[in-house]
Order: sequence, then C-alpha cells, then structure tokens
Amino acid sequence: MIQQYILDIIYIAGALSFVFGIKLLGKPESAKKGNFIAAVGMGLSVFGTIFLFKGEGDVHLKNLEWIFGGLIIGSVIGTMMAKRVQMTQMPQMVSFFNGMGGACAALISLVEYHHATTPQIVASYNVITDGVPQIIQVVSDIHPMEIGKAIVIYLGLIIGSISFAGSMLAYLKLDEKIKDKVLPLQQVINIGLMAVILGIAACSIFGWVAIPYSLYVLLTLSLLYGVLFVMPIGGADMPVVISLLNSFTGVAAALGGFLYDNKVMLFGGILVGSAGTLLTVLMCKAMNRSLLNVLIGNFGGGASKGEARAITGTIKEITKADAASLMKYSKKVVIVPGYGLAVAQAQHICHELEQQLEANDVEVKYAIHPVAGRMPGHMNVLLAESNVSYDKLVEMDEINAEFKTTDVVLVVGANDVVNPAAKNDPASPIYGMPILNVEEATTVIVMKRSMKAGYAGIENELFYNNKTRMLFGDAKKSITELVSELKNA
Ligand code: NDP
Repeated sequence: MIQQYILDIIYIAGALSFVFGIKLLGKPESAKKGNFIAAVGMGLSVFGTIFLFKGEGDVHLKNLEWIFGGLIIGSVIGTMMAKRVQMTQMPQMVSFFNGMGGACAALISLVEYHHATTPQIVASYNVITDGVPQIIQVVSDIHPMEIGKAIVIYLGLIIGSISFAGSMLAYLKLDEKIKDKVLPLQQVINIGLMAVILGIAACSIFGWVAIPYSLYVLLTLSLLYGVLFVMPIGGADMPVVISLLNSFTGVAAALGGFLYDNKVMLFGGILVGSAGTLLTVLMCKAMNRSLLNVLIGNFGGGASKGEARAITGTIKEITKADAASLMKYSKKVVIVPGYGLAVAQAQHICHELEQQLEANDVEVKYAIHPVAGRMPGHMNVLLAESNVSYDKLVEMDEINAEFKTTDVVLVVGANDVVNPAAKNDPASPIYGMPILNVEEATTVIVMKRSMKAGYAGIENELFYNNKTRMLFGDAKKSITELVSELKNA
C-alpha cells in the first residue's frame, strides 16, 4: 500500500515537472533547464513504475531483463544520436524521435490486444504436493473485450502507426532523401483509405463483422495512410504536417495511458497532444491554410494551378565593401534569417554585425517568419544561442508594417519566406502563404551561395527585383567580411 502512495506522489511530481518544463521551454534562455527538469520527471516516473508498480494479484512488473535491456539499448542509441547530430539536422532528429513515440504507442496496442484476448497468468505460487515442489499458475478467463478498451486499443494502433510512418517520411523529406510526390486522385485515395481504416476498426470494435487478422490489416493500412498522407505535402507546408504528427504521437501516448490506467503517461500524452494541436493551429494560421486541407493531402504540388509565371529581369551583385557602407549609413536595417543561417552557423557573427551597426547608430531588428528554417522556432533558437536580445526578434505581422521605413534588408540564407510568388503567382505551390514583404524596403541585400531554389524548390523573383543586390557566398564568411569592413571603415 505504502508503495502505491509513493508511486502516486512520484507520478504527481512527474506530471508537475512536465508542466514546469514546458513553461521553461517557452524561452530560449530557460529551455535547457526546462528540458532537464522534464527529463528528470520522466526518469523518476519510469523507474518508479518499474520498482513500485504492482498489478493484478499484487504482482510486481515482470520481464525486467527485457525492460532494462530496452532501456540500455535505447539510452545508448539516443545519447549517440544526440551527440553526433549537427545543428542543421535537428529537425530530422525531432521527426525521427516523434516517429519512435508513434511506434511505441502502436506496439502498446498490439501487445495489449493480445493480453486482452488471450488468457493471462495473473499469479503463480510455489507449492509442495506430496513432497514434490510444483508451480501453480492462476490464469485469467478470456473475456470479450470491453468496447471502451477496444476503442482505445484500435485508436492507439491507428494513430500511432500513422504518426510513425508519417514522421519517418517527414524525416526523409527533411533530409532531402525523397521528394514530394502527388499521385493521381491523391485526395480520393487518402479519403477512401481513411474510410476503409475507420470501417474495419468499427466492425472489429463493435463486433459487426469478423475480419480475420483485423489488427494486422489495420496496422498495414495505417502505415500506408501515414506514407500517403505526408508524401504529397509540398515544401512550404511541411511545418504544419510536422506539428500535426507531433500531436498525433501525443494522443497515441495518452491512449496508452488510458489502457494502463497510468496517470503520468496519460498526462504526458495529453500535454504533447494539446501542445502539438496548438502549434498546428498556429502553423496553419501562419501558412494561411486550413487544417482540412492538411488532412486530405491537398497541399504542395496539389495546390498549384498551371504553369509557374516566368521571371524576367537581371541579377545585380554588390561588393562586400559597398554592402557594408550602405548599411553603415542607414538609419534602419532589418536582418531576415533563414535556413541558410543555420547551415552556415552564422548566428554568432550575425550578432556581431548587429552590434557593429548599432555602434554606428543604426537601428537593427530581425524579421522572424514562422516557418523560416526547418522546425518551428528554429530562428529564435539559433539567434538566442548567440545572445541576440529577444526584443529585437520581431514577428512577421509586426515587421511587415516596418519594411516601408527600412533602408536596408539583409536576407541571410532565406528564400521561400521572402518569395513574392506567394502573393503574385496563383500557379506557385506557395501561393497564399504570407511572406515577409522585404521588397518594400529601399534596398534588399540577399546573401546566398548560388541561384539555387529553397526548400519549396521554386525560383524567386525577388532576386531579379531592381531594388535587390545579390551577395554570393557562404553567409558566415560574407558576414565576417562585412564586419571587418565596418570595423575598418
Ligand atoms: P529556404 O529553404 O527557402 O532557403 C534557404 C536558402 O539558404 C537557400 O536558398 C540556400 O541557397 C541558402 N543557403 C544554404 N546554405 C547557405 C549558406 N551556407 N550560406 C548562405 N546561404 C545558404 O529557407 P527559408 O528559411 O527561407 O524557408 C524555410 C522553408 O523550409 C520553407 O519552405 C518552409 O515551409 C520549409 N520548412 C520549414 C519547416 C519549419 O518548421 N520551419 C519544416 C519543414 C520545412 P544556396 O544553396 O544558393 O546557398
């Protein structure tokens, strides 16, 4: 009994650590601490369950060698991955871990289905009969599964499998190993497949029709749906799907918590599920998309209508010396960071550039697009790492009103988030996505290495605009040279 009380207290502490951890994750400067606190709470809950939990018949958890084997292997692999991962590969790693969460939830459903439908050993006793030692095992009856339990098991399997397959595909897409692909009649296929999945699940749960191996059929179809659901999603819409998959994993984990009547698992799952859902809503808003479109796979290539508009104009380059003096004699400079900033690891030198400009009485701000980079909040994290003051990071809606009064916009490795095709070209796959209106400034300097496209794979007419000057080269190297030009000027 006392063990149960201690376990309950551990679970409450674990749940509080998640809430507190998430709160601290809200600010880059306290994020590390938040992550650590939530991880300690999770560790306590896991080890508390292993050592203190007692199931039916007052039996402790069994199969400890499997549990510890899994814990050790998972911890070693996780630590190695976390140590080796480059900053630019973080989004892929987040997707991969999210997929693992989905896979765990699906496996829980598979295991628990068999527990619920096959007799279980609920207790075993050592007895001596006629001087001969014997083991007597008490076996449970086979009950038809309660509907509530069946719903939880089937939903956990479906959502967990979709999240696993979808996250793995997102991982490969972010790693640029595979490209978006839209099948003919993609929406019809996706909606049809989801209807079949729900139909089979309903028949099995309510016992309407006996479908042989229904669980495995559902597992296969859900994995397939996960692939078909993410496959057509175009570059610029990936952030929405990533946060949606995140919320799926949370919901699937919460279902596992229901199944085991484990409050901390339920609590953690609900937190992840609701945080993911909120992020999805925010991302949809930022991308000007409806969630329904995401769910039926109406994105990416599917959203574009006809041929993209031909771009006219010429590219005009600028030297570092000219760029430095243009910025030095400006009143206001806005820096637009993008994925290239992360690739170049130019955040520290960017902060130095900001300080140099401010030393010359130039007002400097950063324009943060909600989907810049490769994961939500990517630019905020990078810039906070180099101690850029948080109040200099201005969100898209606010900064868009300021470009008209900006002398120079310095685009550092951003492309899709400043592509005017989102406003001007209905045939563009990013048409409708709100962007940073940098072309309203007096001059735009774009730093990138070549004329290659960004993540969405489309040309950018901003580079041909009369106000734009291209500064080709690696962003870190170029900014380092700009800083020394400013120092020597
Ligand atoms: P983009 O991917 O559109 O463009 C990045 C640019 O950086 C490229 O054009 C590249 O050009 C340049 N670049 C790369 N390396 C360097 C370097 N070392 N130095 C200088 N430039 C460099 O980035 P954005 O941030 O503008 O847009 C993000 C895109 O990613 C959007 O389409 C978004 O939808 C998508 N996405 C965002 C996610 C999120 O959650 N934030 C998740 C998944 C996708 P070049 O090669 O010529 O140097």
